[in-house]
Amino acid sequence: MDTNMKMPVVFAGHGSPMNAVEDNDYSESWKQLGKNLPRPDAILSVSAHWVTEDTRICTAARPKVEYDMYGFPEELYKVKYDAPGSPELAEKVQKLFPDGSVKPDTSWGIDHGTWSVLHRMYPDADIPVVQVSISSRLNIQQHYAFGQALKPLREQGILIFASGNVVHNLSLVNWDMPGGFSWARQFDDYIRDAVKAHRFSDVLQYQDTGEPGRKAVPTPEHFIPLLYALGAGEGNKTLEIFNNSCCLGALSMTGYVFS
Ligand code: ZN
Repeated sequence: MDTNMKMPVVFAGHGSPMNAVEDNDYSESWKQLGKNLPRPDAILSVSAHWVTEDTRICTAARPKVEYDMYGFPEELYKVKYDAPGSPELAEKVQKLFPDGSVKPDTSWGIDHGTWSVLHRMYPDADIPVVQVSISSRLNIQQHYAFGQALKPLREQGILIFASGNVVHNLSLVNWDMPGGFSWARQFDDYIRDAVKAHRFSDVLQYQDTGEPGRKAVPTPEHFIPLLYALGAGEGNKTLEIFNNSCCLGALSMTGYVFS
């Protein structure tokens, strides 16, 4: 890719793992995204489904595909997203944190937070993918700062890809509900409006929303990937919002492209 070009940063709401195999509006947007974005040399992915105590990075040349979802139809477990890894990119990321806080890891590969979306964006699985974990030791501000530290990678052909859900409350999911509960829509809109207006501090202070925030983010792991995207995408000139909707009552699929 043109070395003067800065790669965009993507946050995707992944939702149900079935989006990997079902043709719907969400998976269609992911396909279009893969076609329209400049092609990256490699992808650094932050997935809601890899939470560890320290920050870990996958250094495997051939990362495993993790089938870390249970009770879904057989076809989902047949998806093979055997993208190569990139020990070089893993090393680059480690070097961005000279305190040695990012530890090498080969115990976890590419989980469904990453592959359910990338399978649609880049179905040929021919772009190297490296996952970095979410450290349970970092606070909200530190996750954002981690994303900021990743910015230089954007000038090196790396797509920073974050996958979670702005609203994610599995205990309140209603499988028969097409849209979202009012608190879910309210929280998703609050975050969208803050992102649009570059009020990232309002996103970081999402707990100030009270009940909608408490219901939308009962545990932070699906929300945190957005903070990495905001940090890495900070200073963006353009913003594309895709899949701006809630589903199953208690999930939001809203995604962002910062470029
Ligand atoms: Zn998930």
